[in-house]
Amino acid sequence: MSHAAAPEESKALAPDWLAVPEDANDLAPGVWPASAQRDADGALVIAGISTPELVQSFGTPVLVLDEDEVRSRARAALAAFGDAAARHGGRARVYYAGKAFLSTEIARWMVDAGLNIDVCSAGELAVALAADVPPARIGYHGNNKRVFELERAVEVGVGTIIVDSEIEIERLAAITERLDRRQAVLIRVNSGVHAETHHFLATAHEDQKFGFTLEGAERAAERIRELPLVDLAGLHCHIGSQIFGTAGFRESASRVLELHARLLEAGILADDPTLNLGGGFGIAYTRADSPTPMAELADGIVDAVADECAVRGLDLPVLAFEPGRSIVGTAGVTLYEVGTTKSVAVGGTERRYVSVDGGMSDNARPALYGAQYSARLASREGVEEPVLSRVVGLHCESGDVVVDHEYLPSDVTPGDLLAVPATGAYCAPLASNYNHVPRPPVVAVSAGRARVIVRGERIEDLLARDAGIDASGASSRPHSDPALAGRTGEGEE
Ligand SMILES: *Cc1c(COP(=O)(O)O)cnc(C)c1O
Repeated sequence: MSHAAAPEESKALAPDWLAVPEDANDLAPGVWPASAQRDADGALVIAGISTPELVQSFGTPVLVLDEDEVRSRARAALAAFGDAAARHGGRARVYYAGKAFLSTEIARWMVDAGLNIDVCSAGELAVALAADVPPARIGYHGNNKRVFELERAVEVGVGTIIVDSEIEIERLAAITERLDRRQAVLIRVNSGVHAETHHFLATAHEDQKFGFTLEGAERAAERIRELPLVDLAGLHCHIGSQIFGTAGFRESASRVLELHARLLEAGILADDPTLNLGGGFGIAYTRADSPTPMAELADGIVDAVADECAVRGLDLPVLAFEPGRSIVGTAGVTLYEVGTTKSVAVGGTERRYVSVDGGMSDNARPALYGAQYSARLASREGVEEPVLSRVVGLHCESGDVVVDHEYLPSDVTPGDLLAVPATGAYCAPLASNYNHVPRPPVVAVSAGRARVIVRGERIEDLLARDAGIDASGASSRPHSDPALAGRTGEGEE
């Protein structure tokens, strides 16, 4: 076994935000579900179930979702925005952004908590409907909703379609007339504000595919006024993701309220118009992130919008918000088994590579966005001093990183279970079968009980899509052995 570099030496490779922990077994507050703790043996416990027990039942990798954490965050978001709006004599609605992670169980938890649901494809709509979400509580997004998707949405009676282009408005005009159904819409406005983490950028136009410019939105509103069966319920904007501050929301609301005021004056907006400010509220992925608590964030945003309304002599519109990540992100913990470890010399020091039995197929965010995560030993507490480590997956790709930088106890060894927190949002939905790796199950845990809410795939599931294999599992070709096929003259050059 190679000797680990002392923490002080390997620190040269660590990013500034990552400090050598006093205890490389501790669970950073805010990064893990509130129920996460260690039992007397040092094993990680979530919602009253020990992670080794979960792995015995469900294998690895497995995405564990703390149900009470999801439900309480959903209730807290609704209360936060509802209370903030009520203090200004207004109302707020909260839509859960289903793209963060949607299954029928999760959709039901959202409805139970009083939330509505946003979808952005026929598939997500099908999940919401299969969960018996009342269609009136569904918002439908997307820059390229296909005609059959719009038809389906209007036919089932979704509450709101967020229109994104002139072409879509004409498609809706035709569909509502053909089906003889009314449809409420919001116009998605590209406010020119883009926000991420602590910064926001405000330009005349944001160079991205979603929504109408402010001028384009005004023309769209005028066009919608001519349509007998399409009702303009209000305006929508969404400025980004993993946002910690309120300044970007204020700037964006300020711009969109200008248009809102003009449309009101022109008598184009419905009574009780809606202003939907989207989602994007940040969570902690590592201890370096310190997101503002939801209630404080809601107060800050709603107070700012109320200010902007007061300046223009406007009544506060019905406010709507679309959190995704901040509802499910922190509730998810992915459990992996450690397979191999090695130390790699890097510029006079070394980095420990810890390979786990998943990777970019179950969490694409590090490869896709350079996203940072953290990790802890789950099956036990480590006993040796922390060493700078990189947790990597099993895929044939050097960018297959799960946790780029983390201090783990240097006695991490094959067979240990490793837990990666904050994987509840945008991991399962972005999962792939790269390298023909089956996607892991999702297991909901609550009060000491666990149940599968999305079953894991098997290799047979993957083979079932391969049209070159018949139902018995054999090759559909007479000779699957290429050497044999060559001899019988069947091989292709
Ligand atoms: C992705 C998205 C959201 C949710 O964003 P989170 O960062 O998960 O809160 C909300 N609204 C729209 C329009 C989105 O595209």
